[in-house]
Parts: sequence; C-alpha cells; structure tokens
Amino acid sequence: MTRKMQAAVVEQFGKPLVLREWDVPSPGAGQILVRTEACGVCHTDLHAARGDWPVKPTPPFIPGHEGIGRVAAVGTGVTAVKEGDRVGVPWLYSACGHCEYCLSAFETVCASAQFGGYTKNGGFAEFIVADPNYVAHIPAGLPANEAAPIICAGITTYKGIKETAARPGEWIAISGAGGLGHLAIQYAKAMGLHVCAVDIDEGKLAHATRLGADVVVNAKVGDPAEAVKKATDGGAHGVLITAPSLGAFNQGVAMTRKRGTCVLVGLPPGEFPLPLFDVVANCITIRGSFVGTRRDMAEALAFAAEGKVKAVIELQPLSAINHVFERLERGEVPSRVVLEFSSH
Ligand code: NAD
Ligand code: ZN
Ligand code: ZN
Repeated sequence: MTRKMQAAVVEQFGKPLVLREWDVPSPGAGQILVRTEACGVCHTDLHAARGDWPVKPTPPFIPGHEGIGRVAAVGTGVTAVKEGDRVGVPWLYSACGHCEYCLSAFETVCASAQFGGYTKNGGFAEFIVADPNYVAHIPAGLPANEAAPIICAGITTYKGIKETAARPGEWIAISGAGGLGHLAIQYAKAMGLHVCAVDIDEGKLAHATRLGADVVVNAKVGDPAEAVKKATDGGAHGVLITAPSLGAFNQGVAMTRKRGTCVLVGLPPGEFPLPLFDVVANCITIRGSFVGTRRDMAEALAFAAEGKVKAVIELQPLSAINHVFERLERGEVPSRVVLEFSSH
C-alpha cells in the first residue's frame, strides 16, 4: 500500500489551500526523498497560490521552496548526497546543466529550470522529492528552522545586494523590511554597507533598527525618495526592492544615487512606469535579480552558520497555513513564518 503524508495543496487559484493526504512520492533514478523538518513561508508562495504571474503552476500542486530536511532515501546513481544529510529544497529545483547560462554559472535563468513549490511539488508536505545536484547543503550547527528562510529570502537578498555593486562604506536602501528585507538588512551590514530601511509599517521599521539599519524611512509619510536622498547625501548607491507593491518600484528608482544600481526582486503582478529622463540623465542601472546560484547559496548559508545573519522566525504547524497566508497578505507577519514538522 502507498504510504500517505500530510500536505497543503493548491487545488484552485485564489482559494484556500487544502490540507489533505497525498501519496509519499518515491525518488526515481538520480533523485532523493527528503523528510521535511521545516519550511519557510515566502510571499512567493502567496503569488503561486493566487496564480499571480504570467507563467503559472498547474494545480493541484504543493507550494513551499524553503523546505529543509534529512535525506530519507536516495534513488539509483545518486552520489552527491547520502541518507541522513540535511539539505534544503530551494526555488531553483533543477536546471539543464549544459546551456549557455548553466555553463556560465548563472543557472537561475536556464530555460529548462524547474522551480520548487511551483513547477515541482515543494515543502508544504512531510516529504519532498528533490534533485541532489541542486539541493542546498545545510552547514552543521545551523538548525533546520533557522536555515529555512536562508534558502530563499536569504540567498535572494544576498545575491541582490551583490548585484547592486554597492561597496563597503556606501549606502544601500532596502525597500520592504519583511521576510526578505529583515535578512537583507543583516547581510548588508555584514557586507560593510550603510543601510537605509524603507517600509510602510512602523513595527517593521522599529525591528529594522534593532537588526542594524542605520536609518529608517516610512514610505507612507511624505516623499520616501526625498527622505532617502537626504539621509544618504544624494541617494543610495544601491537600492534593493523587496516590497511586493508596485508603488515601491517608482520610489526605489527615485532614491537611487546618480550612477547607482536599483535591483528589483519583489514580484507584485503588473508593470510600473519608468521616469526615462531621470534614469537616462542620472545614468542609473535597473536590474532584475532572481534568487541565486548554487554558489550564492553556499555563501548565503555560510553567513548564517557563522552567526553574522540570523533569521527571525515564528514557528507554526502546517495546519496554520491559510491563516499565515492571510496575515502575510495583510503585512502582519513580522519577519518569517516557518512551518515546523513533527519528527514523525
Ligand atoms: P513579506 O510580505 O514578508 O514582506 C514584504 C514587506 O514589504 C512587508 O514588510 C511590507 O510591509 C513591505 N511593503 C509593502 N508595501 C511597501 C511599500 N510600498 N514600500 C515599502 N515596503 C512595503 O514578503 P517577502 O517574503 O519578503 O517577499 C517579498 C517579494 O519578493 C514578493 O513579491 C516575492 O514574490 C518576491 N521574491 C522574489 C524573489 C526573487 O528571486 N526575485 C525571491 C523571493 C521572493
Ligand atoms: Zn521565496
Ligand atoms: Zn541550463
């Protein structure tokens, strides 16, 4: 008889997830089975469950791309990991390994890439099938709960900060101080940057200060771009937009210093108008950034293992997922909710 597991399933876009039994998947050749210990809840999971983006997953599917667990079984031919190893099953679930982008170590934009919790079932379940060549290797000493947010929120912001090309001693403005942003602040400080955190919630801004932000700006009060320009003497050298709100994108471009780089990682559905004259005349670079490569993953995890970055987490059971989604949508999750799985 097929073994069953508990999973939270998107059966229909825009409807609550359905908590139900699902067959425990079995790893095929070259695959592994991971027994989930913890899985963070990213705002992307909410976009996935609503079918927000032009490229949509196919219901029914299991979201979750911050799943951490032990390897419970390995398929034939697997040598990269062994049973008992602690791994993470990230957004970049797999890639082809031989296209132009894979060969230049930018596998995140591989046309054949698969995405965890999106095109492949993810971590809102007791077991996950994964590709051993693309799992995150969790450093010893880093608890599963704390590792979970690092494998999406952490890697995405760490990579995004690098993509701004801001250098130690320069300013970075981080728009959105939630799941991604609270880690971005810590990575940026650890990388020697001055940090200006921008959010629309005073509680998040107070928290940003506790996490090391040098300056905080409430985007709902006055003109946030002017406030950032004033605090940074002309605009931030790097801007990282994590806010899932279109309004934050215009503001983010406007707070970029001349010749600076504004990196977009937040993914609200839609488009935003660009003030062409300002971008051209100020020689501003606008750059998209999508999670990070396996090398970025190892680096992002190392910061956490060394204690330089620590995810602030609220633990919840899988059964709380719909309530967590409602709170996330209303901006009521302080940093990151991590779903904790019993040790079976
Ligand atoms: P979150 O809900 O935890 O945090 C969002 C934060 O933005 C909240 O603190 C909220 O108060 C703040 N905010 C909302 N409107 C704002 C505004 N106008 N100005 C400033 N701040 C504002 O979400 P999250 O998990 O951090 O994800 C954020 C976004 O990043 C989502 O759209 C998600 O899909 C996207 N994302 C992208 C990547 C990538 O690879 N590019 C990876 C992960 C997540
Ligand atoms: Zn994510
Ligand atoms: Zn490829």
